[in-house]
Formats: sequence, C-alpha cells, structure tokens
Amino acid sequence: MSDEAATVLGIDIGGTKMAAAIVSADGEVISKDRIATPPGGADQVFAALAELIVRVSGDATPAAVGIGSAGPLDQLHGLVSPVNITGWRNFPLVARVRALTGDVPVTLGVDGHCFALGEFWTGAGRNVDNLLGIVVSTGVGAGLVVDGKPLLGQSGNAAHLGHMVVDLDGESCACGSYGCVETYASGPRMVARARRLGWRSEEIVDAAVLSADAAAGDEIALAVFDDGAQALAAGIVATAVTVDLTTVVIGGGVAKAGPVLFDPVQRWVKRLAQLPFVADLTVEPAQLDNAGLIGAARLGWDALR
Ligand SMILES: [Zn+2]
Repeated sequence: MSDEAATVLGIDIGGTKMAAAIVSADGEVISKDRIATPPGGADQVFAALAELIVRVSGDATPAAVGIGSAGPLDQLHGLVSPVNITGWRNFPLVARVRALTGDVPVTLGVDGHCFALGEFWTGAGRNVDNLLGIVVSTGVGAGLVVDGKPLLGQSGNAAHLGHMVVDLDGESCACGSYGCVETYASGPRMVARARRLGWRSEEIVDAAVLSADAAAGDEIALAVFDDGAQALAAGIVATAVTVDLTTVVIGGGVAKAGPVLFDPVQRWVKRLAQLPFVADLTVEPAQLDNAGLIGAARLGWDALR
C-alpha cells in the first residue's frame, strides 16, 4: 500500500478527556481535537466520541485506526471497561468505531503502551530502540518498546509497572496485591500518605498542591515525593535489568512536578542500577503533550506495515 497520502485515525480514551487525530505516516498531526469525557450511559458516551471522530476526520478516509484506552480492556475481543468511564463495561469499542470508519484495521491498546509508543515515535525516545514510558497520574501506567517494537504481552497487558511489588511489607493496593509501585507513587496515594503525616490534614488538596509545597521546601511533601521516587526507581530498575533498556520517559500529571519528582527518581535510579549494562540508564521528561494519541495512531500504522 502506498503511504503517500494515506492517513491513520488515532483515538485516545481517558476518564477525563477523549482525543482524536488524523496522523500521517511520519507522525505528523494533520488535524486533532479533544472533548471532556461526558457522563452518562454507554451510548451517550459513544455518541460524543463519534461526533469527535467525524469532526476530526473531515474529508480524510483513514486506512486504519489505532485506539489507546484506559484499562482494563480485553484486546482479543475489542472490549473496554475504563475504571473512570462507568458507562462503559465490556463496551465493544472496536466494533463501534469500525462501524463508523468502514472496514479498516482497528487496533486497541492500553493507554500506557500508547504513551510509550508515542514518545518512541516522535518524542523523547525517537533516537533509541528500547524505551520504558511511564505515566504517573491518578495511577501509574507504563509501556515498553523493545528492539523497536511495542511489547504487548500475550493478553496485551505487559509492562504493568504500577503493580510491580516493591515493598514486601507494603500497603494494600487497588489491584488486590500490596506494596505495588502505585501505592507509593500515584498522585492520590502520595497525597494520602502526606496527610497521614500531618500535611494540610484539614484541607481538600491534590497532588499539584503537594508538588508546589515540595518545591517550596515542605519537609513532609519532600519526604513523600522521595518515597514515591524510590518506588518508581525500584520499578524502573527491575524493568531495566529484565529487558536491557537505555531510556526511561516519564509523563502524566504528577510528572508536571518537574525536578521535585525527577531529581529523586534520577538519584534513586543511580543508586539501584548497579549492573554495568544499566549503569547509564537515563530518565527524562516526556516531550509530547499528547504522546498517548500519537502512539495510538502509530498502533494503527503498525497494523498496515
Ligand atoms: Zn497493585
């Protein structure tokens, strides 16, 4: 197939927003738009997405579609049940999108995988072959690119770094296990930990306030970010020694804290990554503000290649 004028439709589904873009073979965004994820039942939510897809597509007839979605999802059957979109439970997203776009390949992937793939394609990882991408926000998502290809795993759920156990005596986690990276490093868990230590315990606050206080030198906030960074570093180094990586890219709301997060993550990674083949591991901020969307489009392109 000629790639000359061909395009792919990328779709990014999240609990707070949904985005779509028409993307060329070299990752150039031709058109894009986003909407707030509406409340409501399955059809109501899909109607809003369908309108977005039609508006963004314009006159384009995409040769394939790639969808990145918050999990959990069933890649084999094309079903999604995003935790924060309560109207969609085992929702047949792939079939519904295909009914809109015609009979083209539609590929579904976890949002963390799409983030990693987007940064690998046109962002911070565009010059490397092996990349771990991590999204630190209300949860901790991740994706891996190994030898230039996304590592999906047999059920499409590889690289669940947020649920890697890093503390054998740790707190219980939403996944049913305990001591997971997410119990230390997600925004809500860091805020909860800080409040238990006496930080702004009477106020309604979020991770953005916590990072501002850490940047201003608040000792509790700094300690909580350091614990979160240590857990992330443990997950990063365990992954790096498993798949032999060069590059880690971190994005997501909590990563917007900047040096307050990146300085301790880099310090802990340096401390824990002692084997020679991971000694030069780099950890850097995401470069794209829509890596998940770009990575979703890349999933679509990969289905054509
Ligand atoms: Zn867990």
